[in-house]
Amino acid sequence: MLFSSYRSKLLVYTIAMMVLLAGSLIYTYSYVRNILLEEDNVHVDSMAQVFQSQMEAEKTEYQRYADIVAEDLRIKEYMFVIVGIGSEPQPLQDIYNRHFGWLPISRYVVVSRDKGEILIGRRHTDLGKTVLEILQHTNRGTFYTYGDYGLELIAVSSIVYRGRRLGNIAVSYLLDDAWLSRHKQNSNGELFFSQDGIVLDSSSRKYIGQPFRVENNRMRVGEDIFFVRQMPLLPVHGSIPKVWFSLPETSLLKRLEKHRLTTMVIIMVSLSVILLLGFTIMRNFTQPLSQLVQLTREVAEGRLPRLDKAVEKNEITELSNQFADMLQALREHQEEIRIAHAELEKSAITDSLTGLYNRRYLNNVFPKLIAQAERSGQRLYALLIDLDKFKNINDTFGHICGDRCLQDFSACLKHVSRANDYLFRMGGEEFLVLALSDDTKGIVALGEKIRMAIENLEVSCNEQTIRFTISCGISYAQPGEVSDENINSMLSLADAALYRAKEEGRNRVRV
Ligand code: GH3
Ligand code: MG
Ligand code: MG
Repeated sequence: MLFSSYRSKLLVYTIAMMVLLAGSLIYTYSYVRNILLEEDNVHVDSMAQVFQSQMEAEKTEYQRYADIVAEDLRIKEYMFVIVGIGSEPQPLQDIYNRHFGWLPISRYVVVSRDKGEILIGRRHTDLGKTVLEILQHTNRGTFYTYGDYGLELIAVSSIVYRGRRLGNIAVSYLLDDAWLSRHKQNSNGELFFSQDGIVLDSSSRKYIGQPFRVENNRMRVGEDIFFVRQMPLLPVHGSIPKVWFSLPETSLLKRLEKHRLTTMVIIMVSLSVILLLGFTIMRNFTQPLSQLVQLTREVAEGRLPRLDKAVEKNEITELSNQFADMLQALREHQEEIRIAHAELEKSAITDSLTGLYNRRYLNNVFPKLIAQAERSGQRLYALLIDLDKFKNINDTFGHICGDRCLQDFSACLKHVSRANDYLFRMGGEEFLVLALSDDTKGIVALGEKIRMAIENLEVSCNEQTIRFTISCGISYAQPGEVSDENINSMLSLADAALYRAKEEGRNRVRV
């Protein structure tokens, strides 16, 4: 189960959130980018239209100039004279110069209808030829042509006098550098003339001679990219350069670049914030939770680990603190149980009056002593002790004092016996000492020591002094001989010895 833990779920949520945010920001960016590009496209269209209408106005203006000249009566009359009589055209030239020399016209020619002869503007034979070409189709109109002077706008008008067409006037206007820079100023765009994929002329001289290729209304020249629109030109014949209006895309790209940078920064910052948030939640939420899970597991396994309480106040720490309290309470309970258990264990094996081991514990400890004897190669000795004439003490001093005697006897026995010896109260006023040793003399000496100690023991009870004696019977088993079963035979041997001690007058030790 890969995603079953909250931690991994949180991780998945965080990643999903990051992807979603980055995706939406990237989408927004590209959406804005498209809108801006679209907007610029529309902008180029409208600017191109303005430029085109300026060119149209130009055509109309030059048509008007041609018409003005053609309609002039003096021009007409002189034309009539020249064509009719065949006189010199010089006076016509003078009239033109005088009356129309001020017009903003680059070149002009007047050609006769009959002979197709250039009457004025004679040096412009190329222009004359072009006009004659035009006249094969129409008497009046504007056209574009391309020749030695470059791209040129020609307006033609016919000179008619008394119902007779005498000839035609053609005025031209050169689309030269001045034209380019004037239109660049008016339209704010960059203008290009292109021919055969090369920039022929441009409002910026740096582009002249550069390759010129248009794709999807866009063009790249060197480092720069332009939105371009072609201007419709009516040529006199075949190939004339194409005229383009364009707006640089570079500024838009710069704007977009800035947008992209901002978007990237926003994405990076938001991603970092989400990451930080995820990490913080993981630390503040899942980490303590998994810690608690680990703790409960330990508790389930029977351990009670320590858990420091948190100072910070929130739902998680509250849970954790309550858990710590619970652990503390459990620990305290466990301690109480441990003590109670120890006490219970102790009371189960000890005699409540004297504090010595009881008969039941003898059965427990006996196998251990046997093993120990076997290991060390020692004998196991049993010293069975019985208080002499104890019934009399009870009868004389009362039961309470009898008990006191049993207690003092036990204390004395503890004091005299060795640390390794086991002391039992077998019942009533009968006691047993189990000891490991390898010589009987030493054990008899121990028995004697006990006997003498009791002989000298004075028990005070009810302001009276009680003295008593003991009899002791000793038995032993050789290493290897002892086994679990012969506890009884050992005890009966000791009992027999004790009986003898009693028989022989009490207050003595017999083996
Ligand atoms: P002997 O020298 O032959 O052993 O004489 P004895 O009187 O000690 O023998 P007996 O076994 O007849 O008497 C034992 C007495 O010990 C009987 C009982 O009153 C007394 N006794 C047994 N257990 C206790 C006890 O826990 N407290 C008191 N005060 N007396 C007890
Ligand atoms: Mg007795
Ligand atoms: Mg007895």
